[in-house]
Amino acid sequence: MSDAESLFERIIAREVPAEIVWESDTVLAFRDINPQAKTHVLVVPKKRFRNVAELAAEPELLADVITAAAKVAELEGITESGYRVVFNTELDAGQTVFHVHAHVLGGEQLGFFGRHSG
Ligand code: 5GP
Repeated sequence: MSDAESLFERIIAREVPAEIVWESDTVLAFRDINPQAKTHVLVVPKKRFRNVAELAAEPELLADVITAAAKVAELEGITESGYRVVFNTELDAGQTVFHVHAHVLGGEQLGFFGRHSG
């Protein structure tokens, strides 16, 4: 397994430090090291799948990830103001860690997304 694949396993195993926001038996939520919004939390299933399409093979676990994203929003106080849940999937979308994760972004007005501007 490459570093980019194993990083989140090492965070789950507490071998790499992270600021943990919420945890259940199946999911870990921790702050992104390079936040793209005031709130930027990653929600990671403890069992590794490469991307969200593969995670869909276990619908209950996919639901755990989405439920955890909503829980994070509640804990961060952004349920009412709004937030975005993003699964970058493969290279054009900018996926760099190939252990599926939901980005939970909010706490301020977010920009548009889509085609690269540069
Ligand atoms: P992706 O680009 O795969 O959608 O998202 C990977 C995310 O992991 C990036 O937003 C990046 O900032 C974050 N990240 C990379 N390395 C670390 C780390 O060591 N700790 C934490 N907390 N986040 C990381």
